Amino acid sequence: MSSTMSSTTSSSANGDWVRLARRVHFSCGHRYFQPKLSEQENKEIFGLCYSEHGHGHNYVLEAYLEGPIDPLTGMVINLMQVDEILKTVTNELDHKHLNFDVPAFKDQVPTTENVARFCFQRIQAELNKSANRAQLSAVRLYENDDLWVDYGKS
Ligand SMILES: [Zn+2]
Repeated sequence: MSSTMSSTTSSSANGDWVRLARRVHFSCGHRYFQPKLSEQENKEIFGLCYSEHGHGHNYVLEAYLEGPIDPLTGMVINLMQVDEILKTVTNELDHKHLNFDVPAFKDQVPTTENVARFCFQRIQAELNKSANRAQLSAVRLYENDDLWVDYGKS
């Protein structure tokens, strides 16, 4: 897993506010298949992604964390904590076949949309295990250079 970081700063009536972004990579295999549909329907809806033995992607995941700057540390959140959470979550996916190895995708098609939602919910659950001023506002999941999904609170 490799990663890069960026942050942006703006100010509001309530004081400092920042959004920190952390990018990580993971790789996994999947197949688009919905058991509630017929074989023919699966083929028609999912096309090449229906292919029986699946295929793989090198995903890029960006997590966006927002909140005030801690006046003592100068941070919105400790990056070591962010990295630990992202490693925990991506380890659940990295080098796995999503349909077979990840229980969450036994009942839902592992589309980019559903994998992004999974990442958001898992990161948020890990973040909520300790008190934080920062909140996870969104994740962006790239399946390829030209395809990505944003998932977050609306
Ligand atoms: Zn795919």
